[in-house]
Formats: sequence, C-alpha cells, structure tokens
Amino acid sequence: MKIILLGAPGAGKGTVAKVLTELDGSVQISTGDILRGAVQAGTALGQKADAFMKAGDLVPDELIMDIMKSRLQEPDCKNGFLLDGFPRTIPQAEALKTLLSDLGLALDMAVSLEVPREEILNRLTTRRTCENPACQAIYNVRSSPTKIKGICDKCGSKVVQREDETEAAISHRLETYNEKTSPLIGYYEKEGLLMPVDATVTDEVVKAIQDRLKDR
Ligand code: AMP
Repeated sequence: MKIILLGAPGAGKGTVAKVLTELDGSVQISTGDILRGAVQAGTALGQKADAFMKAGDLVPDELIMDIMKSRLQEPDCKNGFLLDGFPRTIPQAEALKTLLSDLGLALDMAVSLEVPREEILNRLTTRRTCENPACQAIYNVRSSPTKIKGICDKCGSKVVQREDETEAAISHRLETYNEKTSPLIGYYEKEGLLMPVDATVTDEVVKAIQDRLKDR
C-alpha cells in the first residue's frame, strides 16, 4: 500500500503505521523519526533541524524534500510505504506529487486521522518515546506503559518524554498543524484521495483502511 497518514501530532499516525507495516511489508517512513535520529547522531542534517524541532516549528521544506527524495528510492519502498508526518505543508504535497510521478508511483489514499483536541492533549502529555534512534517505540504512561518503568520493552533503552512534548511546545505544534498542515485535508480531497476516519481507536482505523483497500 502507498498511503499518506495525515493528522495532528498525537493523532496516532505512528501507531497506525506500525500496525499496517505488519500486514503487507510496506515500510513506515516517519520524517520525525529520521530527523530525531539525525539530531542524536549529530549529522549536518540534525544540526540544521535541531532548533526548529525543539521550538515545535516545521523544518524547512527543502531539507525535508532532500530526505524524502532519497528515502523513497530505497529498495525497501518497493512493497509500499506509509508516510507518517509527511507531507506537512502544501509545498511538500506538491513536491511529493511531482516526485511520485517522476518515479512512476501512485498513492492509494491520504488517510486523515481525526481525534478531538482534548484527547490529543491528553495523549501527548502522557506519551513516552524510546530514545534509541533505531527503535523509537512509543508508549503511554496511562494506556500502554512499559513493563519496567522507563525501560523500552523492545530494545532495553531508556524511554523518555520528548523535548518537544512539554506543554508549551505541544501547544505551538498544534498551532503549526492548524496553520500549515490542516490545509492538506482540502488538498487531498480535491485530488480525490482523502479518506477521513475517526481515529479514537487504533484497531478501527486499521480495519477501515483495510476495507477501503479491498474495495479499490
Ligand atoms: P513528528 O515526530 O512527526 O511529530 O515530528 C517532530 C518534529 O519534526 C516536528 O515538530 C517538526 O519540527 C519536524 N518534522 C517532522 N516531519 C516534518 C515535515 N514533514 N516537515 C517539516 N518538519 C517536520
């Protein structure tokens, strides 16, 4: 499958993507995970992205498109991909359209994960992430805690609260989402690719996507 997962921070894009990858070998491509990995490794990309990310601002489109141009051409994308956190702006969506057409690829759909704002705030303040760049497993202190407090079940690394998940950074990220990213819903509706889903429950989102893919 070739799917874009749209939704505010905390809507569950990463969680849904991880479940979907297990269904048909599609890969999850999270620009947030790639950027956090680059920041931790101290690469040139990481150094450029760090301040934007800490402030809850978007990283410039050019940097993101450089990442995506090479990532989408890696061999593991042949079985399909789930774009998680990309595109985030109309210029990124336009650039993606050109890139996919150059690569001879077509999207199946853009799924918009819809979750009430209260629930988003609740999820983000209680979310914890594995600090190992190669793992980045997601937990929630209330609904899906680690078995041992503060330690990742999957790789044994420390599980931490992300620096951009303080209350101030979260509210700025949500404003950025409303201003820059939510217009993508209208964009993909016009493209005939939009599938809005109530994303309060992950399993239901996955089922709705599977049903839609079967109908195509
Ligand atoms: P995420 O893990 O998707 O919430 O992303 C964390 C942060 O990485 C965002 O707040 C942005 O600073 C940056 N980021 C991730 N994806 C993008 C993107 N497609 N465009 C611009 N900035 C991004």
